Amino acid sequence: MPELPEVEVLVRHLRPLLQGKTIAQVDILRRKVLKPTPPHIFKKSLCGATFQDLCRRGKYLLFYLAGPHGLTFPLIGHLGMTGRMYLHPTDQPLPKHAAVVFRMGELDFVFEDTRFFGRLTLNQSPVENLGPEPLGEEFSAETLAVNLRKSRRPIKVLLLDQHIVAGIGNIYASEALFLARLDPRKPACRLTKGEVQSLWKAIRVVLRHAVARGSTIPLNYSGTGKTENDGLFYFGSAAGLAGDYKERLRVYGRVGQPCLRCKHVIAKCVQAARSTYYCSGCQTAAVRKRTKTV
Ligand SMILES: [Zn+2]
Repeated sequence: MPELPEVEVLVRHLRPLLQGKTIAQVDILRRKVLKPTPPHIFKKSLCGATFQDLCRRGKYLLFYLAGPHGLTFPLIGHLGMTGRMYLHPTDQPLPKHAAVVFRMGELDFVFEDTRFFGRLTLNQSPVENLGPEPLGEEFSAETLAVNLRKSRRPIKVLLLDQHIVAGIGNIYASEALFLARLDPRKPACRLTKGEVQSLWKAIRVVLRHAVARGSTIPLNYSGTGKTENDGLFYFGSAAGLAGDYKERLRVYGRVGQPCLRCKHVIAKCVQAARSTYYCSGCQTAAVRKRTKTV
């Protein structure tokens, strides 16, 4: 599932391709992805509108468009589990799972989603209550500490809460906790000041690194959507990619393999119905305690 870095890479890629393009026609193939915007309102608002800008907020894409009368409004996009957004030559057949298509001359903008959990909607409420951007100035170790102190939930589960910090999902929560050497099962309120500081730093390092790495990878926008052809959302773990990319994730998906830091085996547990990967050596409180007493 795409998280902040993948969405950021997509936004940077799409922004120059869309700026100045006017939507001549809107084709809605799956109404579900527009919810709760009614299809007729969606069409009426977007036909004749011109793309002005594209930004990211958490895992959301914010398209800013100007209507025929110059009024600017946002269109909110979310890739869900399997969504993809790309420009597609008009003379080629549409992909099987195309959900929304904007006709814009020689190229169409396609929102494709095999499972239809994604969104392309005029409803702005999902982005209104998001927590701070982890790479922005408003995200400080102090604000993170205040939020963590309030909860007894495991720290990994809390990192997935978009009200606490926006844009982190299952992959980067595991990666940040690994970098910070923190046990994902530890109750959030029990993290020390030093541990919160390490986690705050790790979140920013992991995300910045992933954005930088993702930006160097050729994206396959007109691919079939199969994992092995999807150069965007699974970069780092896709079969057939260069070894450099495979090694991008240091703990996620590596269950049973040796830790890159201490050689202990990488373990997996389930938290809030999601898989968590962590090192059974350098990320467990017991080992840290033992190390301290040596
Ligand atoms: Zn380790």
